[in-house]
Amino acid sequence: MCSMMISALLITIPLLFTPPCTATRPTPQFSFTPQKEEHHNHKWHSFMNFLNARKGTQVPGISHLKQYFHHFGYLQLQDIRNATDTFDSQFESAIVRYQTKFGLRVTGELDYDTLSLVMAPRCGVPDIAIHTKLHASRNYEFFPGKPRWPRQIPMTLTYAFSPENLVKYLSLPEIKRVFKRAFATWASAIPVSFAETDDYGFADIKIGFYSGDHGDGEPFDGVLGVLAHSFSPGSGKFHLDAAETWAVDFDKEKSTVAVDLESVAVHEIGHLLGLGHTSVEEAVMYPTLKPRKRKVDLSIDDVEGVQALYGSNPNFTFGSLLESDISTNWASDLLRFRSFERWAQLIIALTLTLSLTT
Ligand SMILES: [Zn+2]
Ligand SMILES: [Zn+2]
Repeated sequence: MCSMMISALLITIPLLFTPPCTATRPTPQFSFTPQKEEHHNHKWHSFMNFLNARKGTQVPGISHLKQYFHHFGYLQLQDIRNATDTFDSQFESAIVRYQTKFGLRVTGELDYDTLSLVMAPRCGVPDIAIHTKLHASRNYEFFPGKPRWPRQIPMTLTYAFSPENLVKYLSLPEIKRVFKRAFATWASAIPVSFAETDDYGFADIKIGFYSGDHGDGEPFDGVLGVLAHSFSPGSGKFHLDAAETWAVDFDKEKSTVAVDLESVAVHEIGHLLGLGHTSVEEAVMYPTLKPRKRKVDLSIDDVEGVQALYGSNPNFTFGSLLESDISTNWASDLLRFRSFERWAQLIIALTLTLSLTT
């Protein structure tokens, strides 16, 4: 019996130490390689004409790029309507800030990588000014004053869809399914739940599709460019650009400029909860999203940010994130720890089983 036990252990232990199966997910689908055919019909496409423009020169039309940097928080213009076409040192500083924020090569020049990122379709919410980072791993941002929903935890927030502001080619049940998933994504990480209500007037979060100037001082701009925007906690306004081709299923929606509704919903809900834009490309709170791409899973950066505001959902584990975000040392260490913990448990269980049979 004893020799049988030793044989069993000798056979089983190597199996236990086989590295755990790590299911691979598709790598994050964001890239800044411009695909011109996808960008041809929105106004930012013309920014590529400024490639390698020189400081100190007059560059016809560059005032529009100054307005872009002003809108997204990189340049302060006294009078946005009278922006000049001079490539001055203030504009150069704005480029440096932008390049620093996104980890681009800091040149102060309008190089190809910088302009490609500038042209990418994105969220309309401005980026937060860069601050000196105390911890290199912290990239998530809050709105100024770090607002969050001022309710006792655990809390429930209600949401509703504007009956007059939907898109005809998507049914309301289809839209509701997408948003239910998007809200559940965040609810899994924090002690906040979300409940749909038909009472639009009293809902905490009000969702609708709007065209052009829709009364909040943040007009939408047509196909691509700005895709959506939402406001910091307390407001609850969540607006999507009705001019986009919103997709709930890319197998059915074949347009080259289709935008994934769930990806944008997850991103904007992050703002509604109090998160700003991060510089972590894999995070859902990164500000750009290419057409026909999906990004619906929270990264560690997103989770750490939102949990800094609301605490953790007691049922949340980082395990589900590790498959998609094992690139950080932190995650890798945790994975190793968990694997070791699992093996240790299995060895103890096996030893106990064998002891009982002897
Ligand atoms: Zn955003
Ligand atoms: Zn709006």
